[in-house]
Amino acid sequence: MSAEKAFVKDCLFCRIAAGEIPAKTVYQDEDVLAFQDIQPQAPQHVLIIPRRHIADSLNDLRTEDEQVLLKLFYAARTIARELGIEQSGYRFLTNTGRNAGQSVFHMHFHLLGGAPLGLFGAPRRSSANE
Ligand code: 5GP
Ligand code: ZN
Repeated sequence: MSAEKAFVKDCLFCRIAAGEIPAKTVYQDEDVLAFQDIQPQAPQHVLIIPRRHIADSLNDLRTEDEQVLLKLFYAARTIARELGIEQSGYRFLTNTGRNAGQSVFHMHFHLLGGAPLGLFGAPRRSSANE
C-alpha cells in the first residue's frame, strides 16, 4: 500500500494507532502497536497491528512490507513473554475475509492465551457457505 494510504481516515485501527481512539496498549515501537482486544476471547487477548495501514488483510500484503510483518511476529513473541504465557502456550493468527470473521480491515494479528484454547476451524452452522 502506498505512502498516501498509510493512514485511512475511517479505519478504526488507524485511528487507534493515531491516538484518536483510546486503547490499552501493551507494546509499541515505531512500526508496531499492540493493545488489548475490547471483547476478549481468552484471558489474554491482544491485537497486534502495523501502525501504518499497509494492507486491508493478508490478501493484499506486499513483499516490500515483509520487514513490518516480521516485526509483528517478533512483537508477538515479546508480548507472550511479558504476559507470562510463553511457556503455557498461545495462538497467533490473522482472520482474512468473511468466512474467517474479519471485521476490521486493517491487517492485524490476534494473540490469545492464558488458558487452554478450544479447537478451531470447524464451520459455524450459520456460515458454512464459501
Ligand atoms: P477481526 O474480527 O477483524 O479479526 O478482529 C477485530 C477485533 O477488534 C475483534 O476481536 C474486536 O473485538 C476488536 N475490536 C473492535 N473494536 C475495537 C475497539 O474499539 N477497541 C479494541 N481494543 N478492540 C476492538
Ligand atoms: Zn487502518
